[in-house]
Amino acid sequence: MVNLKVKCPHCGKSLMNTEHKLDRVSSIELKITYAGKNAPIYLSSKYGSYTIESELIPPQGKVAGFRCPHCDADLKSTRKCEMCGSQMIALELKDGGLVQVCSRSGCRKHMLEFQDPDAELEAFYKAYIKSLK
Ligand SMILES: [Zn+2]
Ligand SMILES: [Zn+2]
Repeated sequence: MVNLKVKCPHCGKSLMNTEHKLDRVSSIELKITYAGKNAPIYLSSKYGSYTIESELIPPQGKVAGFRCPHCDADLKSTRKCEMCGSQMIALELKDGGLVQVCSRSGCRKHMLEFQDPDAELEAFYKAYIKSLK
């Protein structure tokens, strides 16, 4: 498995929480907003894992808002989910590029985008393939 390291695309601060581990690795900490409430949410940083932990998890099919826990910026992306049409949220990868995740509860669509697709994709897939062996 590949571990993603992400930061806020707005303030540039790391979104990794090294104390709160999920799947035995550092989690990605965001702030979720739903039905007028907000709470921290932890996402697994393993690419391909859907482990999440929060006191506030919207029911299946509901769309939540996600904010940076540091600067409170809305992490909504300009892109819509190909599977369900909801807004995606975008996080910046520490090594360049973006990871986008669907904001709808239960939708497992996520994607990676690289600024320098050749170099970064190659490095990513090398690590990914190695982890599958
Ligand atoms: Zn921020
Ligand atoms: Zn979706």
